[in-house]
Amino acid sequence: MATIEEQDVRIKVNDGVTACDGVFFETHYTPHDRRVRAIKALGGLWGLAVLLIPVPPIHLVLIPAFLIAGPVVAYKRYKTSVAANHVTGVCPTCKQDIKLALQTADHLPMWKYCPKCSAPVHIDVK
Ligand SMILES: [Zn+2]
Repeated sequence: MATIEEQDVRIKVNDGVTACDGVFFETHYTPHDRRVRAIKALGGLWGLAVLLIPVPPIHLVLIPAFLIAGPVVAYKRYKTSVAANHVTGVCPTCKQDIKLALQTADHLPMWKYCPKCSAPVHIDVK
């Protein structure tokens, strides 16, 4: 079963002095979860390829694309044991609560932009 873990972080601005607390959330997958995620990705993409068989104008391109993408995406999902979710905290610039969505491969430390004031923020381990 996948578990979501929290890690305390510091959200800083460029001056290096102003900082606020935040929490970094990441999902840890067990080997069973990784296999299930990989199988779902493979099944979904190959299922789309099968569904596109009766659509003549686009099936010449999309069916091979989905057939190739299926194993590639499944392999990437199988290799992903930890996935970054989001960061919550207070922006040091505008002092508002923020929630930053992250890409799966994001890791600490990282630079992001505040969604409220667009100021660059540095998120680092506390
Ligand atoms: Zn802000």
